[in-house]
Amino acid sequence: MEAVLVVNAGSSSLKFQIFGIAGGGLQRQVRGKIDGIGTHPHLKASNADGTDLVDRALDSSTVRDLPTAIAEARNWLGGVDGIELRAIGHRVVHGGPDYVRPVLIDAAVLERLASYQHLAPLHQPNNLAPIRLAMDINPDVPQVACFDTAFHRGRAEHTDCYALPHAFYEDGIRRYGFHGLSYEYIAERLREVAPDIAGGRVIVAHLGSGVSMCALKDGRSVETTMGFTALDGLPMGTRPGQLDPGVILYLLTHHGMSAQEISDLLYHDAGLKGLSGISNDMRELSASEDPRASFAIDHFVHRCSLHAGMLAAALGGLDAFVFTAGIGENSATVRARIAERLDWLGAELDAKANDTGAPVVSRAGSRVSLHVIPTDEELMIARHTLALLRV
Ligand code: AMP
Repeated sequence: MEAVLVVNAGSSSLKFQIFGIAGGGLQRQVRGKIDGIGTHPHLKASNADGTDLVDRALDSSTVRDLPTAIAEARNWLGGVDGIELRAIGHRVVHGGPDYVRPVLIDAAVLERLASYQHLAPLHQPNNLAPIRLAMDINPDVPQVACFDTAFHRGRAEHTDCYALPHAFYEDGIRRYGFHGLSYEYIAERLREVAPDIAGGRVIVAHLGSGVSMCALKDGRSVETTMGFTALDGLPMGTRPGQLDPGVILYLLTHHGMSAQEISDLLYHDAGLKGLSGISNDMRELSASEDPRASFAIDHFVHRCSLHAGMLAAALGGLDAFVFTAGIGENSATVRARIAERLDWLGAELDAKANDTGAPVVSRAGSRVSLHVIPTDEELMIARHTLALLRV
């Protein structure tokens, strides 16, 4: 079967999925990942119905970094029967100011994507590593880059800038926004499951390890909570979200912290983890009786409610609110607490529907409908890749 391979490479994990091309559409065949790269590497993959195909620890001296993990995944994928690779779609975090849609990769595109490395130093090099490798090993297989930023690029310039002298904007210091593949998928899915509101004013809350919200008008991003980097906006597992820039200056001048120390604090030790001192994991915090855990959740809900109000203002009102990603899809408690804070906008939660994980969790007659829609960034990448193959 002809297939598209989707690759999402991070610093400590490599995720991959195979989609068969069948009857003009896509069918997920394999979902896999190697996580614990650099510590305890582990390969796990399952087929379309969730049956394990492999689940084993890997030798940490063999699989010691991303390139060796890619080689391992390649070996394993080589043994999957009946797959004829037609293209590879990659998640690339940063498309810079230029890329407003996915792009077929050649040497010039790769060079330009590498030039955005300073905009996303933790992610971009990892995203590009498998592209380079595949170019060397399978030069005839087309590769497509799909960006987290692209979906937000059509926003008006006055929403896309910081109040800094314009030269900084030209230098690429802009409010890019992220999680674009997730928002794009939800916008498409809304057209299928709720066509009456898909063209309206919708806030999508991507509440996972990374957290952001996006204001959609007629399926397009008009405002979002993340900015120049994926640190901005809402509190996350280990990132703080919005922070007065004066805090950074204070840490530099009064605490004598280095740029690297501040980066480590902001990317790895802040957010739910830093605030609770317990965990970055919402499930763990929700189960804990430690008051610091509920304090961190209170802060999370508070900030989500404030930013929802900001996005509702950007939209001039609200027709629907969508919860997605790990917390949004699975935590009825967090959904209920955020929904409660949206009552001034006209959102009325149906507690029973919410507790049973229904796709619509608002009451009949609620002025703002509340939805739970599982996101699928990998399917979005596969769709884009297939579409570019056909151009
Ligand atoms: P993601 O990055 O989308 O995989 O989301 C990860 C986040 O979702 C983590 O904070 C998890 O603790 C959280 N999560 C997953 N399942 C649940 C659940 N049942 N209740 C609360 N949080 C959950």
